[in-house]
Amino acid sequence: MYLVQSRPRPATDGITGLAEAVVDLSAIRDNVRTFRHRVPQEVLAVVKADGFGHGAVPVARAAVEAGATWLGVAHASEAFELRAAGLTVPILTWLYDAAELMLLSDAGVDVSVSTVAELQQVVSVVPYVQLKLDTGLHRSGSAPDHWIELTRTAAHYEALGAVTVRGIWSHLSHGDSADAVQSERQLQLLRTGVSLARRAGLRPSVVHLANSAGAITLDAPDTDLVRIGAGLYGIDDLGIGLRPAMRLVSKLAQVRRIRAGEGVSYGHDFVADRDTTIALVPIGYADGIPRAAAGRASVLCRGVRMPVIGRIAMDQFVVDAGDLGVEPGEPVTIFGDGTSGEPTARDWADWSGTISHELYCGLGKRVPRRYEEGTR
Ligand SMILES: *Cc1c(COP(=O)(O)O)cnc(C)c1O
Repeated sequence: MYLVQSRPRPATDGITGLAEAVVDLSAIRDNVRTFRHRVPQEVLAVVKADGFGHGAVPVARAAVEAGATWLGVAHASEAFELRAAGLTVPILTWLYDAAELMLLSDAGVDVSVSTVAELQQVVSVVPYVQLKLDTGLHRSGSAPDHWIELTRTAAHYEALGAVTVRGIWSHLSHGDSADAVQSERQLQLLRTGVSLARRAGLRPSVVHLANSAGAITLDAPDTDLVRIGAGLYGIDDLGIGLRPAMRLVSKLAQVRRIRAGEGVSYGHDFVADRDTTIALVPIGYADGIPRAAAGRASVLCRGVRMPVIGRIAMDQFVVDAGDLGVEPGEPVTIFGDGTSGEPTARDWADWSGTISHELYCGLGKRVPRRYEEGTR
């Protein structure tokens, strides 16, 4: 009844293991240069969450090679990884624990400070701080009501030589949308915050507000840095010609025929309406393939889109290979930059009701990252 079409053969396609995420570092560099050409500010490359799943250290190195002058991470632990790898450019962290302050000091990392209590905790330990003003995101940052007190206290400590306020910054709430009204309002608030800080005696050397999209939509030549995360990896919400840096590839693990009427994967959500060939892709939701994409998703194999059929399992999913005569070991592109007809991360995000950011960050540790220098 069941016909195995062919025996497994050794891989001939260069994919080592069952799946890998191939990161084109030249795309990272090109994306940094795209921003450098488009905006007057210097680029702070945001490499949090392991460089959005791409690998923080290789991405940071590529970004610095292309002219990024700062690095930004969320958690302090991520800054230590960059320093341990020999990256010497200034780094800003915005989420840290009091127990990490000595290490942050040793690593020479700027810490973000939003309140007088936080400031008192870091002075005399950490040499450089950046004061964060909440201009509307309402996540972290100083409430505008407390800003004068915060800047005056900071100026007091600076005069004592206990700390240097290197920067003043804020984060946009609608940075991803082309509607710049809210961003413009936040910029005005930041400008007011900076002049109040100057009045208190502070002389910050960097002022920054915009993320990737804000860098393009917001005209803020009086700021010094733009904090580029998504854009670094080629997430291109504004269509400015960024290049997706990651390609997720695997290879068919098993190939077999099924008959019309037979169901596939847990619960038989898919039932074949004709005899067909199914092929197993050995990567699942534990690796970051979103379960919610089932029923909509497809992958590229032999230049053809093959629909994902049935539920996506923890370690594997099944595609309908039709009558193409595919064989085990054949390469499959799960997502890439789309230029060969493969889906993009954005397609997967759309199929599963999320954003590319979450897809990239969700790639599990069973998926090795391999680095290459693309040609284009
Ligand atoms: C993640 C993050 C960024 C980067 O935003 P993108 O939209 O990914 O460019 C910038 N600033 C802060 C504070 C962030 O948390």
